[in-house]
Amino acid sequence: MLMRLKTDFRLSIITLLGASALLGITPFAVMRFLRGEVFAGLIDTTILLTVFGSMCYAWITGNTRHSGIVLAVVACFGAVVVAAVVGEVGLFWLYPCLVTSFFLVVPRIAIFLNLASIGAMMAMGDVFQSGVQMWTFTATALVVSATSFAFAQRTEHQRERLEQLATMDPLTGVKNRRAMDEALNLAAAHAERTELPYALVMLDIDHFKKINDEYGHGVGDGVLVDLAALIQQSTRRSDQLFRYGGEEFVILLSGVDGSGLTAVMNNLQHALRNRMRHPGGAISASFGVAVYKPGESVDSWLERADRALYEAKETGRDRIVFAEAISTAPAANGDLPAGSTGLVG
Ligand code: GH3
Ligand code: MG
Ligand code: MG
Repeated sequence: MLMRLKTDFRLSIITLLGASALLGITPFAVMRFLRGEVFAGLIDTTILLTVFGSMCYAWITGNTRHSGIVLAVVACFGAVVVAAVVGEVGLFWLYPCLVTSFFLVVPRIAIFLNLASIGAMMAMGDVFQSGVQMWTFTATALVVSATSFAFAQRTEHQRERLEQLATMDPLTGVKNRRAMDEALNLAAAHAERTELPYALVMLDIDHFKKINDEYGHGVGDGVLVDLAALIQQSTRRSDQLFRYGGEEFVILLSGVDGSGLTAVMNNLQHALRNRMRHPGGAISASFGVAVYKPGESVDSWLERADRALYEAKETGRDRIVFAEAISTAPAANGDLPAGSTGLVG
């Protein structure tokens, strides 16, 4: 529980708001009922129950986006309704709500809610004692909203940049291994739900060390960059490429298996053989391919692709080996399932 609060910022804000609402609004609700202000008491109780319900929903489903929107709307318009019912003293509640909305929803929704609630306050002119008070309130509420918006926008950009840095390989610009772990988990979960086939391709450049040794590290780097670009050009937009490490890449293909997958792999190998060059000549790679098997773990999926790649290296390189062909028989060219190919030289 503490771990979820630490790692999920929006959940922690929702929980903080839920707890504050329980502690902060409950005494007011009780006091209003005791004083006979039933309408105001009912409004407080409604706000309280909605906040508490949204908090429980976020904890149970993990969906903090929906809860965040509900809470931001309830906070902003709850403050307006409270001001309408209790008058001038209710105005102060809007300030914390104007700031909190930026923690609950994306900045552009938050600023929209803020402007709408400030506008609603102004529309209820009789809440204010004078025109000066209304304009002072409006100006200060706008300043709070504008500065919160600027801060939230900056934080959002920084978060996006950090996420990009944490998931991108700086040399080739493709996604890194950290992003791959997440994508494979999502793909496995999606495959379990929908039975859509997912294929994992592990690719390793053949004799890459020789290129580095003979032509220098810079040339080796250039080969990695060119290869990543070529793979991206030769696969669909929905396919994902990751740099697994060194001169190894992983491609995640969706919606293909059997003969379709064999054709995709042959095309990729063909493109690589014909278009990848280094100063000493052509470049080849070995491929290990594994189609996700329902019920298996991501580790086992990766391991099967890795074993297939190892088999491709062992049996001469510049080859494609399908894991399905070696899981039942140790030799790569054993009995193949329909549509699969053992070794494609
Ligand atoms: P094999 O056909 O068995 O795969 O042989 P190989 O030479 O390709 O494989 P090996 O594992 O022996 O060597 C991989 C080399 O890749 C060694 C390492 O220096 C080089 N390497 C790893 N990362 C980078 C990089 O970012 N840039 C460059 N230029 N070289 C790298
Ligand atoms: Mg290699
Ligand atoms: Mg390697």
